[in-house]
Parts: sequence; C-alpha cells; structure tokens
Amino acid sequence: MKLPKNRTNDYSKEAVLKRIRFLEKRSQKTLKYLPDSQIDPSLAKGNIESIIGFAQVPVGVIGPLSINGEHASGDFYVPLSTTEGALISSYNRGATAISMSGGVNVVVAADGIQRAPYFVLEDVFKAREFTQWVEKNFQKIKKVAESTTSHGKLIRYNSYMQGRVVYLRLHYTTADAMGMNMITKASHEVCRYIKQHFPVVSYAIESNMAVDKKPSMINTILGRGKSVTAEVLFKERVIGRLLRTTAQEIDKAYRRQVTGAQLAGVLGSNGHAANGIAALFLACGQDMANVSESCVGYIYTETIGNDLYVSLQLPSLVIGTVGGGVSLPTQKECLEIIDCYGKDRALKFAEIAAATVMAGEISLASAIVAGDFVTAHEKFGRNRPRKTNKPR
Ligand code: NAP
Repeated sequence: MKLPKNRTNDYSKEAVLKRIRFLEKRSQKTLKYLPDSQIDPSLAKGNIESIIGFAQVPVGVIGPLSINGEHASGDFYVPLSTTEGALISSYNRGATAISMSGGVNVVVAADGIQRAPYFVLEDVFKAREFTQWVEKNFQKIKKVAESTTSHGKLIRYNSYMQGRVVYLRLHYTTADAMGMNMITKASHEVCRYIKQHFPVVSYAIESNMAVDKKPSMINTILGRGKSVTAEVLFKERVIGRLLRTTAQEIDKAYRRQVTGAQLAGVLGSNGHAANGIAALFLACGQDMANVSESCVGYIYTETIGNDLYVSLQLPSLVIGTVGGGVSLPTQKECLEIIDCYGKDRALKFAEIAAATVMAGEISLASAIVAGDFVTAHEKFGRNRPRKTNKPR
C-alpha cells in the first residue's frame, strides 16, 4: 500500500487526514491528536513533507534570567520545550542563582558556518598545484559564492590534502540565518566554477568535514555557528542559601567531573548543556539535529574567596533567527518572548542560549553536591505508566 499523496496540494487538511486514515487502518489505532492542531498545515511547507500533523511538546518558561551581554541585556523569560520533568525547575533555580549574583556576562567570540567540498585531482602534484590555484583565485571564488545570496559572505577557507584529494573547508557568515541552505547553494556554485577552471577529476559538495550535525574536534577548535563564552561570579550567600552548598564543594566536584569526562572520552566538559540547548531549540524552531555540535561545551570553575567563578564556552552553537523553522507559529511566538525573531537578532539569541546553559550547569552541579539530584527528579520528573490507557 502506498502512502496517500495529493499532487496538487499535499498541505491541505484533506491531504493530512487522508494520510491519518491510512495510518489508522495500518496501525489499528485512533490517531486523534496528531491532526488536531489549530495550525494550518500549509504553514509547514518548506519545513516538512508528507505532513500528518504537529508534535505537541509542552513548553515551559524560566526566568527572570539576568544577562549582561553585548546584544542581550536585561532580564529574560526563556521558553524551553521538553518532556523531562524537573528540567524547567532546575534551570529556573540556576536562573535565580545567576540573577541574584548580578547576572551572566556573555559575548559572541566568533561567527561563521561551513561547507566542505572535496576535489579529486590526478595525483598529489596536481593536488598541490590545485591548493595554490585556489589561494590565488580566492577573490574570484568568493565573488561566485556571494552571487547566490544577498546575506552570505565567504570569508575564508582552509584546505587539507589527503593524497590526491583536497578538502576545502569554506567558511561563511550568514547574518541572521543558520545558513546551511544558503551556503550549500553558494558552495554548489563554487564547485561548478572550480570544475570549469581547473582540471579536477571529480568533486562532491560535502566531504563530511563541515562537520554538520556531529560533534567534532575541528568545530570545537575552529568554531561553527556562534562561538559564545559566558561567566558568572556566584556569590557565597547565593550558593549557601539557594543552592545549599559552598563554592569549594562545587569547584571540587567540577574538577572530579572533568576528570570523569576525560576518562570516558567525552568531547567537552559540561554537565548537561544538551538539555538546555535541545529545549531552547525545540521551542524556538531551530534544527534539532544541530544539538549534536551545539551542546559541546566547556565549563571552568575557580573559587575566589568564598565566591565561585564559573565560565562556559560553547564553540559551535548553530542557530538562526531567520529561515529554517523559526517562522512556524509557536516557534515564532517563543522567539518573540525573548525578542529574538527576525533580523539582527541572531547574536542576541546566541547570548541567551549560553546564559540558559549556564543556568542549567550551576543548578545541576549544586544539586549533585547537595544531594538534591534524585529528590528533584522524584518530585517533578517521574511518569510511571498508568494502569489505564486513557489520555491524562
Ligand atoms: P533558509 O530558510 O533556507 O533561507 C533563509 C534565507 O533568508 C536566506 O538564504 C536569505 O536569503 C534570507 N534572509 C532574509 N533576511 C535575512 C537575514 N537577516 N539574515 C540572513 N538571511 C536572510 O535558511 P538557512 O538558514 O539557509 O537554512 C536553514 C535550513 O537548512 C534549516 O531548515 C535546516 O534544517 C536546513 N539544513 C540544510 C542543509 C543542507 O545541506 N542544505 C543542511 C543542514 C540543515 P539570501 O540567501 O538570498 O540572502
């Protein structure tokens, strides 16, 4: 049996219901909620194919979260979408600790996203000649790339040789868009131009060296998307009263956890950056697969007297406030809550994302030290199967 498709309009409510009925027949289950959304399915055109409805994931909010950024400045209420009970409470506690300590300082240290085509040459000698030709012709290549977009800029590239194969890691800025569609189109033209002007045997637009949607050392070192760094000086009284521990205890625990992560071969040294990143991405229409590189993050701690200095680095935060899924109705609303929808908002959104991760980090670290880790989840985060099948 073939999945029903409507060739003239596959985004109408009728087309959605036709697929729902098909799936109900196959699964012998009633699918009541999937198509039951107020959102017009046609709004999802460009974001999904063969649509059967909207996944309705709960959205919570944390705040006020006090941020001293270059683009985000003031108190923010941050929407987070998750099914993990206790997550919002935990991040909210961290936000309170940050705000009571004077806020989180945050800057975007670098910006840019990559496509990495590879080119096969005749032999290593031709491959070397090719790298020299690219260097000499970079301005022409840049012009070709930028002819495809009014916002994308090809800033630089790195070349890597492996025998007769040359990998070109093209580095673009993409204004407020996350940019992968934009730079894929630009890189496609770059590849065609190179093939027309240099005797390459063959090429492919992506070598997996970009590295999109995977954690990697190259993105950790060179950056991908926004590279953001943040710091907070948590005050002794806040750590004592709110987090029920001490600066020394958290600092000690972090050192042991960094060693634990090293022993386990983890890329990064954070407690659970993926929780905050995924919840923010889901609420705000980001590409969820980019959580994999965006959540690579490094925490550093140091006691200053009885206060605790904590810094965070997110080297590869892949986000956008234009394009992709940000214009979908609830996603747009969530971005609007933090004034991050649209033009000139990407850097602000990046700063808020880092501040949110910081909130989750201090809360988790102190919960582990103070022994609240299990009790918080027992209180807020358990969903043992109910006896009946009825929706709650
Ligand atoms: P997009 O939705 O494909 O395009 C957004 C477009 O908005 C830009 O190309 C740009 O047009 C325009 N724009 C208008 N105002 C802008 C502003 N202020 N800043 C930046 N752009 C502005 O978005 P995208 O970010 O390029 O791509 C994101 C999507 O790519 C996501 O849905 C993601 O899932 C998907 N993705 C694609 C690939 C791939 O290989 N193609 C890989 C991973 C993810 P101009 O370019 O004409 O200036």
